Amino acid sequence: MTGSTTPIHQLSVAVRAKIISAWDTSRLAPFGATYRALTAIVKTSWLLSSPTINSVLGFPRVPIHGKPAKGFRHEFLHLLPNNEPGNPPETITTDVVVIGSGCGGAVASKNLAESGYRVLVVENEWYTLTQGDSSSISCRSC
Ligand SMILES: Cc1cc2nc3c(=O)[nH]c(=O)nc-3n(C[C@H](O)[C@H](O)[C@H](O)COP(=O)(O)OP(=O)(O)OC[C@H]3O[C@@H](n4cnc5c(N)ncnc54)[C@H](O)[C@@H]3O)c2cc1C
Repeated sequence: MTGSTTPIHQLSVAVRAKIISAWDTSRLAPFGATYRALTAIVKTSWLLSSPTINSVLGFPRVPIHGKPAKGFRHEFLHLLPNNEPGNPPETITTDVVVIGSGCGGAVASKNLAESGYRVLVVENEWYTLTQGDSSSISCRSC
């Protein structure tokens, strides 16, 4: 594949780059496919790990004109499976139940809470504590 008897890891970076670039225009399909797969991995790794990509693209972590809104008082409940026979069911009183705290559920919950409803958001994924968060729960099924 390299056209050289020297193992590829012993070649210089410049030679390796030249070999891999040549695969892009190779008439043999597996070479082209290998080139595309390798370059996709490298590009994705770089995009995910680069400390400079966001500043180079001018892509801030938070919207430039965005301001944090006033939050709502909330508490986290960790509901464990209740499989024991004879255990009474958990009873929670609320106005609205929102299943899932994704983009849709979070915005719906926020709008409903702003309108004065008591909202229970049920989420089956992990909750990650953010800095300054007073909640002590970090769990799946919160
Ligand atoms: C890799 C990727 C990148 C994306 N990038 C962008 C982007 O840059 N810009 C953009 O606008 N959109 C982007 N999207 C799309 C965007 O994330 C979705 O359109 C959006 O999250 C959909 O919101 P949702 O509330 O419908 O669902 P989700 O955000 O998927 O939320 C659903 C929630 O419900 C929970 N849930 C599911 N089943 C249950 C259950 N039975 N009980 C309790 N909880 C449950 C899930 O755990 C999840 O938290 C991207 C999507 C992906 C996958």
